[in-house]
Amino acid sequence: MKFADLGLSDELLRAVTESGYDEPTPIQAGVIPSVLMMRDIIGIAQTGTGKTASFVLPMIDILAHGRTRALMPRSLILAPTRELAAQVAENFEKYGKYHKLSMALLIGGVQMGDQVKALEKGVDVLIATPGRLMDLFERGKILLTGCNLLVIDEADRMLDMGFIPDIENICTKLPANRQTLLFSATMPAPIKRLADKFLSNPKTIEVARPASRNENIEQFLVKTSERGKKDALRDLIEVEDISTAIVFCNRKTTVRELAKSLQRFGYKAGEIQGDMDQSSRTAELDRFKKGIINILVASDVAARGLDVKGVSHVFNFDAPWHPDDYVHRIGRTGRAGAQGRAFTLVTPSDDEAIDSIQKLTGYTIPVHGGGAPKAQAAKPEAEAEEREPRRAGGRSERGGRGRGAAARPASEPKPAAEARPEAPKPAPQKKAPVRKPAPAARQNDDGPDDGWNGPMPGFLSVGFDS
Ligand code: AMP
Repeated sequence: MKFADLGLSDELLRAVTESGYDEPTPIQAGVIPSVLMMRDIIGIAQTGTGKTASFVLPMIDILAHGRTRALMPRSLILAPTRELAAQVAENFEKYGKYHKLSMALLIGGVQMGDQVKALEKGVDVLIATPGRLMDLFERGKILLTGCNLLVIDEADRMLDMGFIPDIENICTKLPANRQTLLFSATMPAPIKRLADKFLSNPKTIEVARPASRNENIEQFLVKTSERGKKDALRDLIEVEDISTAIVFCNRKTTVRELAKSLQRFGYKAGEIQGDMDQSSRTAELDRFKKGIINILVASDVAARGLDVKGVSHVFNFDAPWHPDDYVHRIGRTGRAGAQGRAFTLVTPSDDEAIDSIQKLTGYTIPVHGGGAPKAQAAKPEAEAEEREPRRAGGRSERGGRGRGAAARPASEPKPAAEARPEAPKPAPQKKAPVRKPAPAARQNDDGPDDGWNGPMPGFLSVGFDS
């Protein structure tokens, strides 16, 4: 099937061709014609399947006709995280370049004043995280009565983050006869209930999970102990010929500590987690995309939907608690036909988590090397390394030297040449995160990632034709 068979306008087809795509992915082939026929849709698809374009493309054609009105967006896309919202916005820019539509991105961590100004002018597309949207709504800065098209993206992630009550609330503010598109990687009961309540005669389109069939990703378990994890990870980084890697941790504190630890050992490592303000996250992602750093330590929420090309490796420093997160994490590698390798460090307490992952994917992950866990032997080193942050307190030169041989334990293998920074520099001091208390329902272990923490730097509102 070709894009031209889907009923999209010539301008849109031109933008798609210029983006380098010839054929629609299965979710696009299934969703696009039905959206153009104004059907409600349940799309069961993961990131990596091309699902974003499956709603962005038909939306652009639907919105091409009609006028904007002050304070009344014509369509609304709800995304669970700022990163995902920003990626949806990027898709609108890419495919909407031959259309004159206006868009506003309503996410936490950016100036509310500018967002309000954009809304006052009127927008065709509003892309928002639920928390910020509800806040502006409650302040009377936005009217949803003119919003005839609603997209709920990554609904299962919204559920994990405690956003479902917000979403239900938002749904009741929109016209009852609107068109609604709901995307989710899985359909747990609360999402099914949401769909039953707010969608009308939806067409369900399901595509296979990329991870359960992506043979481009080689998966391994690496047995270790809790204390041996850092050593085990560095061993893997040494042995594997990594170009770029994402290292996932379950907790924000682990993300912070591990990134600093890797930096001390000479690696070009950075971090992305939910306590960082938006500008730091964007800057860090940029550094990763440009190759200034090649190891990104990340939490699930912050990394949700990240689409970075050429990630050769994914390391699960912690086995994820939710099996879906495993699928999502390893899907950061092996994209677009490339080969990828995914390693999960496991301790005896992870047995249950690994069991659920294997049940979900229907795949028994082989144990890497099959031999004795290396990290056990390296235990004293791991302990020395664990103590380092306290010893280094207030002695920045220690952190600086940590990148070179001086701070590396004698038995520590040297990092790969390309993973070593040019010159040792002290690790930058991070500001204590500014957190706004959030309702308990929104808490997960990574903290609420609805955009409420951190300062508010820039604003992003994009006219497609600008
Ligand atoms: P998504 O599932 O929306 O996160 O998209 C995953 C990746 O697939 C992104 O890098 C898109 O640019 C890419 N993509 C979207 N549509 C197509 C297509 N028709 N052919 C190949 N790649 C695509």
